[in-house]
Amino acid sequence: MKELRKFVLVGAPASGKGTQGRFLSETFQLQTLSTGALLRKEIELDTELGRRARNYMEQACLVPDEVVNGIVEHWLSQTSNVSWILDGYPRTVAQAENLDHFLQEKGQGIDVVVWMDVSRELIEHRILERRECSQCNYIIQDSSKTVCPVCGGAMIARKDDNINAFAKRWKDFETMTLPVARYYEERGLVVKISVSHEREVSEVSRELMAKLEAYAASHEI
Ligand code: AMP
Repeated sequence: MKELRKFVLVGAPASGKGTQGRFLSETFQLQTLSTGALLRKEIELDTELGRRARNYMEQACLVPDEVVNGIVEHWLSQTSNVSWILDGYPRTVAQAENLDHFLQEKGQGIDVVVWMDVSRELIEHRILERRECSQCNYIIQDSSKTVCPVCGGAMIARKDDNINAFAKRWKDFETMTLPVARYYEERGLVVKISVSHEREVSEVSRELMAKLEAYAASHEI
């Protein structure tokens, strides 16, 4: 039975990566790095990194590989011996190759890649309804809510959650990130969850756990 300690989450924006990532992190006691959340925080704090990333993010473009690779390597260097999950990285094959090299040099590797495979129609609907808390980053799928149910902060639409930005982000996802899922699939590392209509989060989590258990059982250490 393979022990699952190092996870990668791949999926389009609003595919439920963040939600299932939190579930996995609680279940497997993982530390989480969400590159998107980290970059948004850096922009808010107006750091040098934030200033480098801002234009790309506001135009719904991917931040250059070398910037994101640097962030992830720095984070992994500080968390090398713990169990972790990467949410939103790698998003290009070049990033995936970089991650492989980085981990290989430390004698490590990814244990499993969770691929949230969600239909375009569903993602588009979710993105237009999505609101994120400006204080605690809690996310809900209801554009009528203006106050965060967790901390009372203001619920706002992310700048990149609009119809034009969505079309661009979906295209980038198809051309750049889907090949990442296939890259890992060729290496036999993928557990795939397909969602074509809205389902209960807990139901998706149950399916994910069952598939992870089957995956772990069929892979030797
Ligand atoms: P997310 O919250 O994961 O949807 O990320 C929001 C934005 O952050 C993306 O649209 C990109 O501009 C940027 N970003 C996050 N992760 C990456 C990555 N691995 N590579 C390049 N850009 C990224």
